[in-house]
Amino acid sequence: MQYDIIIAGGGMVGSTLACLLGNAGKRVAVLEAHAPAPFAATDPYDLRVSAISRASQRALVNAGAWQGVVARRACAYEAMQVWDATGSGQIRFDAADLGEADLGHIVENRVIQCALLDAIQALDNVDLYCPDKLAAFEVGADSVKVQLHSGTTLQAQLLVGADGAQSKVRQLAGISLATNDYGQKGLVCVVQTELSHQDTAWQRFMPSGPLAFLPLSDGSSSIVWTLPADRADAMLLLSDADFCREVAQALDYRLGEVTAVGERAAFSLRGRHAEPYIQPRLALVGDAAHTIHPLAGQGVNLGIKDALGLAEQLLKSSGDVGSVAVLRAYERARRGDNVLTQKAMEGFRLLFGNTLAPWKILRNTGLSLVNRLDFVKYQIAKQAMGI
Ligand SMILES: Cc1cc2nc3c(=O)[nH]c(=O)nc-3n(C[C@H](O)[C@H](O)[C@H](O)COP(=O)(O)OP(=O)(O)OC[C@H]3O[C@@H](n4cnc5c(N)ncnc54)[C@H](O)[C@@H]3O)c2cc1C
Repeated sequence: MQYDIIIAGGGMVGSTLACLLGNAGKRVAVLEAHAPAPFAATDPYDLRVSAISRASQRALVNAGAWQGVVARRACAYEAMQVWDATGSGQIRFDAADLGEADLGHIVENRVIQCALLDAIQALDNVDLYCPDKLAAFEVGADSVKVQLHSGTTLQAQLLVGADGAQSKVRQLAGISLATNDYGQKGLVCVVQTELSHQDTAWQRFMPSGPLAFLPLSDGSSSIVWTLPADRADAMLLLSDADFCREVAQALDYRLGEVTAVGERAAFSLRGRHAEPYIQPRLALVGDAAHTIHPLAGQGVNLGIKDALGLAEQLLKSSGDVGSVAVLRAYERARRGDNVLTQKAMEGFRLLFGNTLAPWKILRNTGLSLVNRLDFVKYQIAKQAMGI
């Protein structure tokens, strides 16, 4: 089969790209290894959720998937409260002060993926190969040939690797990867709390790592707790009662006691950056190109910006979408923002992980100062929201 573009990976980023290109009339093939479990409103909340920025929300609207997200479930959050465990420094962002209804939405990754796959299936010019996997590819002068595990062969002008942090496309292309193992894990689970979450995202920075409580629409909270890897593993083994006690204490009882916890899991945290993102007839997007620390919940938001950036360049081109000139323009548009965000997350991680007195003073006075400087504070909020 002949396409304009083949996208390996139908996760949140690859599917967004497929919809943006499909809506503009491109012939697209999406290869996805695992179909997400179909969503039912009675399902318990998934472990993996994302804080979706306004910019990502707009991209999902343009992709034709946002309706499908809100029809399933999403929780708009109206405020964010961040504070330092080693002092009195804190900062609070309120949507109302920005004249906005919310700061963003907390959405299960599976909900986003299901809504995007529905949007793909409504497009005649986009074919979904699922479950199937990219097994190999061969780049020629005018096209790239992709071999699937099922034995099917596809051909296109461009192959996009949207196949996540362990990207097979990146590996087969021999693209190098700079990695930074943080020695930490992100422990995730859904908890019930004694007090209401007040549609607020709560985050407490401790020297061992931040703990975030993200509000869900049924009143429960999804937590992401960054811990040294061995401590995260030990936390997984605690009884529910002991775990609830630990996590309530770690949040400084801001939401009172933690009264129940669901399934728990922990993910190793590693910064990665591919160099370059492109080769002739090949481009990487999302986690295939870069992963960052989840402390500010920006990973998928950056990936969706990649999808927007690549779609813009491909749709601008009147000729060969796999040409190096078109792909270079994509890399130029996206690498700077990705590097800057990755460095900012590293900076926050080091600043908040440092127990030396001067650093404690710096971050506590810094947080409190920015909290009082409305203009600076709301510039930061607008930047994070993508408005
Ligand atoms: C603990 C934790 C919390 C996080 N919280 C947030 C948050 O709040 N906000 C945020 O923005 N980001 C967050 N992130 C980051 C976010 O989850 C990722 O950035 C995002 O999932 C990347 O999406 P993706 O589509 O690029 O890759 P993936 O989600 O990894 O999707 C890749 C897809 O490709 C498929 N695939 C893989 N190999 C092949 C193949 N060979 N052929 C075909 N298909 C293949 C996979 O099945 C998968 O569906 C968090 C990350 C962690 C670890």
